[in-house]
Amino acid sequence: MKTSLSILAFVFSIVLTAQNTYIHCGKLIDTESGKIRTEQTIVVSGSKIVSVTKGYQNPNSTEDTVIDLKSKTVMPGLIDMHVHIESETNPKSYLEDYTLNDADIAFNSVVNAKVTLMSGFTTVRDVGGTGVNVSLRNAINVGKIEGPRIFTAENALATTGGHADPTNGAKRDLIGNPGPKEGVVNGVDDAKKAVRQRYKNGADLIKITATGGVLSVAKSGQNPQFTIEEIKAICETAKDYGFHVAAHAHGDEGMQRAILGGVKTIEHGTLMSAETMELMKKYDVYLVPTITAGKFVSDKAKIPGYYPDVVVPKALDIGPKIQDMFGRAYKAGVGIAFGTDAAVFYHGENGKEFSYMVEAGMPAMETIQSATVTNAMILNMANQLGQIKEGFIADIIAVNDDPTKNISTMENVVFVMKDGVIYKN
Ligand SMILES: [Zn+2]
Repeated sequence: MKTSLSILAFVFSIVLTAQNTYIHCGKLIDTESGKIRTEQTIVVSGSKIVSVTKGYQNPNSTEDTVIDLKSKTVMPGLIDMHVHIESETNPKSYLEDYTLNDADIAFNSVVNAKVTLMSGFTTVRDVGGTGVNVSLRNAINVGKIEGPRIFTAENALATTGGHADPTNGAKRDLIGNPGPKEGVVNGVDDAKKAVRQRYKNGADLIKITATGGVLSVAKSGQNPQFTIEEIKAICETAKDYGFHVAAHAHGDEGMQRAILGGVKTIEHGTLMSAETMELMKKYDVYLVPTITAGKFVSDKAKIPGYYPDVVVPKALDIGPKIQDMFGRAYKAGVGIAFGTDAAVFYHGENGKEFSYMVEAGMPAMETIQSATVTNAMILNMANQLGQIKEGFIADIIAVNDDPTKNISTMENVVFVMKDGVIYKN
C-alpha cells in the first residue's frame, strides 16, 4: 500500500512538473487541406502535439515556455525520401571506397545528419549506404547524436556490375564475388536472400537499382539491370517483412519492370515515357524526383577530373533531363514524393528542390504537401508525421516568408523542433 501510494505521488509529481511549450505561429500551414491559417497556437507536451488552436494562447503555469514565431510561417518537419547520409560529394569520393573505414564513415555521418536536421528535414529515407546508416539511425533514436529520424534501406540491392554493386570499377583482384549478403543478387533465390539479409541487418525498407546510374563506374546510365522475376521476388519477400521497395531508375524499360514488379517509388525517373507515367498512376507508384542532384552532377561534370571519365557523358546527358520529365509527370497526374538525393550534392541544401519543383510547374503548397503528408503516408507514418495536429509527433519547423509567395524561403529554415525538442531557434 505504501509502495503504491509513493508510486502514485511520483506519477502525480511528473504530471504537475511536465513542461508544455506554447508556439505562437503567425502563419501555420495545414498540410492536410493545403491552407494557411493565421494566428495559431501549438501546444507541445513531451514529444507530442497536444493541441492546435486559433489565437495566441498563453500558459497558466510559469513552468511552461512560449516560443514566438508570430512573424514566421510554421509547418511540419520536412521529409526527404532520398538521401545517402553516410557520404557527400567531393572530387576524391571514388577513392574513399578504398580508404575509409566504417569508423570514418560513421564520423562523417554524424556531421551530415546534423546538417540535415538543421535545414528542417526532421525525417529522411536513406536509400543506400554501407550499413553504418543502421547504427546512425539507432544512435539518433536514443538521443546520442543529433539528426533526423531515419528510415534506412541499409545496402541498396544490385545485380552483378549493376549500379549499386559495391565493387564496380575496382581492379580485378579487388572485385571478388559479392553476393546477397553485400546486396548483389542474380536470380530469384538470391533476391529473396538479399531482402531477408536486410531484415536481419536492421533495415526499414528495400532499395533496388533497377537500371544503370549516373555516378557508378559503368558504361550505361539507363540499361535495365534486373529481370522482372527478380524484382517480383524482392517485392513479394519485402512484403513479408513490412518493407516497401524503392527503385532507382533512369531508363524506361527498367522502370516499367520495377512498376510491374511491385515497387512503391521510382527514384529519378529521368527517361520516363508517357506510357510509363500511366503505369505509375495505375499501380499507385510515386516519383521521387531528385532534380537538385541532376542539376549538380551536370554542373560538376564540366570540371575536369571531378568525376571519372566514364561518368562524365552520363552526367551531362541524364542530369539536365530530370526537371523537364518531372514537369511532365506532374502534369500527367503522377504522385510526387519529395526527395533530393542529398550526398550527390551537399547535405543541408535539400531545400533547393522546392524551387526547382515550382519552376517545373508544381504549385508551392503541393511541393510542401509532397514533403510532408505524402511522404509520411509512404513511410506508413500518416497518423504521426507530416501534419501539425493533435496527437502527432512534435516535428515542427519555421521559415521567414510565406513559401507560397517566396518558395526559396524553404532553403533557410530558422526554427527546428523534432520529437518536441528544439534544435534551432
Ligand atoms: Zn541516390
